[in-house]
Amino acid sequence: MRLMVRILHITITLSLLLIGYGSNIVSAANPNPSQEITKWQMKWGDETGNAGKEIPWSEGQQSWMNVDSKKGLPELPSGVSSSWTRISLPDLSYVSPSVYIDTLYALHVRVYVEDRLIFEENRKYIKDNYSLLLPLSKADNGKTLYIWTKTMQDRIGIKESVVIGEHSQLINEYIENGLSDVILGCAFFLVAIVLFISALYISKDYFSSVASLAVVIAATGILSITYSPFIYTFYNKLGPISNVCLDLALFSLLPALTFLFEKLFGSGKFSIIRKFRQFQVLYSSFCLLFLLINLLSNNHYIEFYYFISTTIIGFILILQFILLIACVVMFSLKGNKDAIVFAIGFGTAAFTVVAELLWYYIQKGNYDLFLWKWGLVAFIISLIVILERRLAYNHQQVVNYSRELERFNNELERSEKMEIISELAASVAHEVRNPLQVTRGFLQLLSEKSVNEEQIYMSMALSELDRASNIITDFLTFAKPEFETISSLNLYDEFKHIESIMQPLCHINGGKMILDVSGQLWVKGNSSKFKQAFINIIKNSIESFSEEGFIYMSVYGEDDKVIIHIKDNGEGMDADVLHRLGEPYFTKKNKGTGLGLMVTFRIIEAMQGEVRFTSKKGVGTESITILPLAEAPDDSYSL
Ligand code: ADP
Ligand code: MG
Repeated sequence: MRLMVRILHITITLSLLLIGYGSNIVSAANPNPSQEITKWQMKWGDETGNAGKEIPWSEGQQSWMNVDSKKGLPELPSGVSSSWTRISLPDLSYVSPSVYIDTLYALHVRVYVEDRLIFEENRKYIKDNYSLLLPLSKADNGKTLYIWTKTMQDRIGIKESVVIGEHSQLINEYIENGLSDVILGCAFFLVAIVLFISALYISKDYFSSVASLAVVIAATGILSITYSPFIYTFYNKLGPISNVCLDLALFSLLPALTFLFEKLFGSGKFSIIRKFRQFQVLYSSFCLLFLLINLLSNNHYIEFYYFISTTIIGFILILQFILLIACVVMFSLKGNKDAIVFAIGFGTAAFTVVAELLWYYIQKGNYDLFLWKWGLVAFIISLIVILERRLAYNHQQVVNYSRELERFNNELERSEKMEIISELAASVAHEVRNPLQVTRGFLQLLSEKSVNEEQIYMSMALSELDRASNIITDFLTFAKPEFETISSLNLYDEFKHIESIMQPLCHINGGKMILDVSGQLWVKGNSSKFKQAFINIIKNSIESFSEEGFIYMSVYGEDDKVIIHIKDNGEGMDADVLHRLGEPYFTKKNKGTGLGLMVTFRIIEAMQGEVRFTSKKGVGTESITILPLAEAPDDSYSL
C-alpha cells in the first residue's frame, strides 16, 4: 500500500516537474553553454587502509591512466574493486555552476573537490548506476574533482561523459533520467490493477487467466520503474525497497508468464510447459527464501543471492524464451489464430530485445537500452487481445447455446401440443364421424320426402353436417399424416384440379385466380392430402380478400426442388400473427377452426418439404413451399 502511495506521489511529482520542464524550455536562451568532458584520468584503488578517504594527491603522474570515453573505458582488472577518477574543472563562468554525471557505475561513491567531500553514498543493495548532479561554487574554478568508486560488479567509473554547466539547465536532463520508464511503469501498473479488479467479477474459469495476465502486466510495470535510475536518484532512501521490488517482480513475472501461456495454449507436448512452470514456481520460491535470508542477515549472502537471482534467472529466462517461441511456432503452424497473435507480440518484443542487445555490443556498451520496453508494450497488447478474443468466443458460444436451447424448447412445446391433439383427434373424430354419416343418410332420405319449406331446413341441416364432417376430416388428417397411398403426382394435373375446385369460391368472393405451372414436374405424395394442403392455403387467401382480390400461383422447378408460390393481395398479417401460423386452434376468424394451416404444415412436413410465409398488413401474403423433386414415373407421357 505504501509503495502504491509512493508511486502515486511520484507520478504527481513527475507531472509537476514536466510542466516545470516545459516552461524551462521556453526560457532556455542561455548565453553560457554547458561543457562536455570526455577525457579524464583514472587509477585503480588499493583495498587496504583508509580506502576512499585518503585522496591520492602525492602519487606521481605516471600512476594515473588517461581515459578517453569515446575510445572506450578501461576494464576492471580481476582482484580490483575500487578506483579513483580525477577531472580538472574548466572555467566555471556560470551563475551557479554544477557538475552532472549521467551514469556512474559503483556501489559506494565519494566525490571531492580538492579535499572537500561534496557527495557520499554507500548502497547496500546491488544497483550500480548512479546519476549525479552536484553543485559547485565559483571558487572551485581550476580545481580538481576526485571521485572514489567501489563496486562488486565488473564495471566501474564514469560512463560516456561529465557535463559542467548552469545548474538550472542541467537539472532538466537530470530529471528526465528514467522519467519515461517510470511513466510507462505506472501506466502498466494501473492497467494491471483495473484488470485484476475486473477479474474478480468474471466467472471462476477465467479468473486465473485474467489474474495471471494482471500479474504479468503489474510485474512488467514494476520492473520498468525499479530498473530505471529514477527512484535511486531522487528517492535514494527507497533504493533498497525498490531493489527488493525489482527482484519480487522478476520472481513473479517469469512463472506468471508461463502459467498464462499454459492457460491459453494448454500444457504442450509431454506437459513440458506445465513442468517448466512448476520448476519456475519452485525456483522463484527458493529465490524468495534467499531474499529473506539475505535481508535478515544484513546482506551477508549478497554475492550468492546475486548469483541465483540474476545470473541463473538470466539463463532460465533464455530457456523460457526458447520454449515459448518453439511452442508458439508449432501452434501457429497448426493455424491457431491466438498463437499467431502471440507470436506477433512476443516476436516484436524478442526482436527489439535482441536487436538492441546487438547494437549495445556493437557500441561496446556505450548505448542505453530503451526500445525493449516498447517491445514489451506490443507483447502485452497481444496478450490482452488473445484474452479478449477468448472471452468473446466463449460468450458467443454461450449465446449460441442458449438460442439453440430456446429453439429446442419451442419445438418440444409444439410437438407436445401436437401429440395431445393427435390423440384427441384420432379418438373423437373416429367416434363422431360414423354417427354423423348415419344421421346424414337419414336426413337425406327425409329431405327427399319433405315438402318445400321443410326441404330448405333439411338442406341447411345437411350443409351444417357437411361442415362438421369437414372439420373432422381436418382432424383425421392431423392424426394420421402418414399417407396411405403414395404415388408420383404431376403438379400440372394437381394444380389444374385445385384451380377448378377453388375458382368458383374465388369468383363468389369477387376475386381472380391465375395459375402458372410448367409441365413435367413431379413430387411424391398422396394426391388428396396434397390438394388439401394447398386448398387450405388458397382458402385463407380468398377469405382475406377485401375488394378486388387476386391470387397468383406459380409452380416451377429449381435444381432438385419444386417451388410453389401462392400470393394474394388480401388484408395481410402482423408479425405476431405470422409467427403463430400453424399453431393448433390459432384463428383470427369468427367461424375459423384454426386447424387449416396446421394441417398444411403437417402434410408438407411429411412430404419432406417446408412452407414459409411472408406478409405485410394491408398489402398481402405470400407462401413459398419447397418440395423435393421426384423422378417422372415410367408410364408418364410428355406434354
Ligand atoms: P382459420 O382459417 O380457420 O382461421 P388457419 O390455420 O387456416 O385457420 O389460419 C390461421 C390464421 O392465419 C387465420 O385466422 C388468419 O388470421 C391468418 N391467415 C392465414 N392465411 C392468411 C392470408 N392469406 N391472409 C391473411 N391472413 C391469413
Ligand atoms: Mg383457414
